[in-house]
Amino acid sequence: MNIDQNTLSAFLTELMGESGVISETADTSRYTTDWSGERLGEPLLVARPRSTQEVAAIVGFCHRHQVPMVAQGGHTGLVGGALPDAERPELVISLERLNRIRDIDPLNFTLSVDSGCVLQTIKDAAAESDCDFPLSLGAQGSCQIGGNIATNAGGLNVLRFGMMRQLVLGLEVVLPDGRIWNGMHALHKDNRGYDLKQLFIGAEGTLGIVTGAMLKLFPKPETSRTALVAVPDVSAALALYAQARRSCCDLLCAFELIPRACLELALEAAPSLSDPLESAYPVYVLFEVAASGPVDLDAMIEHLFEKGMEDGHVLDGVLAANDTQANRLWQIREYMVEGQQHRGEHLRTDISLPISSLSEFYDEASRAMIARSPDTEIIAYGHIGDGNLHFNLLPPPDLDLAAKQALLHELEGELFAIVERYQGSISAEHGIGRVKQAPFLDGLSDLERELITGLKTLFDPDDLMAAGRILPRRA
Ligand SMILES: Cc1cc2nc3c(=O)[nH]c(=O)nc-3n(C[C@H](O)[C@H](O)[C@H](O)COP(=O)(O)OP(=O)(O)OC[C@H]3O[C@@H](n4cnc5c(N)ncnc54)[C@H](O)[C@@H]3O)c2cc1C
Repeated sequence: MNIDQNTLSAFLTELMGESGVISETADTSRYTTDWSGERLGEPLLVARPRSTQEVAAIVGFCHRHQVPMVAQGGHTGLVGGALPDAERPELVISLERLNRIRDIDPLNFTLSVDSGCVLQTIKDAAAESDCDFPLSLGAQGSCQIGGNIATNAGGLNVLRFGMMRQLVLGLEVVLPDGRIWNGMHALHKDNRGYDLKQLFIGAEGTLGIVTGAMLKLFPKPETSRTALVAVPDVSAALALYAQARRSCCDLLCAFELIPRACLELALEAAPSLSDPLESAYPVYVLFEVAASGPVDLDAMIEHLFEKGMEDGHVLDGVLAANDTQANRLWQIREYMVEGQQHRGEHLRTDISLPISSLSEFYDEASRAMIARSPDTEIIAYGHIGDGNLHFNLLPPPDLDLAAKQALLHELEGELFAIVERYQGSISAEHGIGRVKQAPFLDGLSDLERELITGLKTLFDPDDLMAAGRILPRRA
């Protein structure tokens, strides 16, 4: 950095006015702490641009004066990517004021937006035009579409609609030298050579700051059905999943695994919730089918239940009779995550496996964790329709913090080794950030490392943008 903080502050204030810059320590706290309460360092300053041109001017200035910077969305990414660095102070560029819905084209089924729009706002805007933007996740009231794109977010409906990569038709990005790349195409088919936008999706802000996006929409569902079903084990849950895709004309849009221990966490976190079935069962799945147009969803589900009972995959179940009941079932899924947070120190993972290996993996990984630490509690749930598991661990409560952390670190290494053996991924959704960097680098071949490093150097030769995320900081 070849300027002092006052010069940076003066530039930002002149560009955006007083409200565009935050410098007092007290005022920066919400930009230094993420959803999980994690914090690392203090930012140089926080810039809050309102337009793509302002983002470009800020980034160009940082490039000229070698100021490190990091983009920040809704702060719900759980791998430390948006947190300002502790060793090399960074300018936080918060996209929270770049939040306009630009245009909606219901005939083309597209919506163009600023990157700072909160996901829920985008879903509401789509719904107003009788359309659906299907990305759905627990953090949708806070996360921003720019953050969703930067992390290639997934969520509940991936099995039917895909991840962000499948939901983005065009992007506008400010490159690390301040130039604006305008790729805001609204084309459903476009095969003109390399697909540049895909480089920025999932890049966690290391190759550029996303400022705008052209999103793909779908018809708004007219009917949907939500059911919670008790099954004997994970293997039965997967057999039911395969049957559900076939029996429901591939209209299945969510299929979640909820073992009993997870359901109990939800009941603990939200006493207003009640056990959805009369008896307790070892494993549940929560699923949803939805359709637009004249489709008999009840007949499909009835057929699925009958077949599931016949095959011994379904033990019991409840079909929500209305939206209120459906929401209560979905609250179980949401509150589980909160319940886990309330239990304090825990290991959070976000792995994926080929769906066909998931049950075997689940059993082997559970055995390995318990063999090493019999009192560790396994909280393994997730979007199993995508092969995605949050195989999380709660350490024995009687250990002190340091012992808990050491144990969880060891168990994580063991778990990731099993994931590797099953040719799975250590990051299905949340990305690498800082938290997953070591195992990510361990799993790269020399060729992969060379290509990835080469890309970063091409876009950001001075390593100024989100340095230290995905790849180690160069200096
Ligand atoms: C309760 C809960 C449930 C969740 N469920 C899911 C789930 O089901 N599926 C899933 O995929 N994730 C899930 N997440 C994780 C999280 O919501 C996603 O990763 C989300 O996409 C992050 O968006 P954000 O706006 O909060 O990004 P931030 O946390 O602010 O940033 C995340 C990363 O993106 C970069 N970034 C942010 N904005 C931009 C931009 N405009 N341009 C370039 N880079 C940018 C940041 O630098 C950082 O590296 C969940 C999180 C919580 C707390």
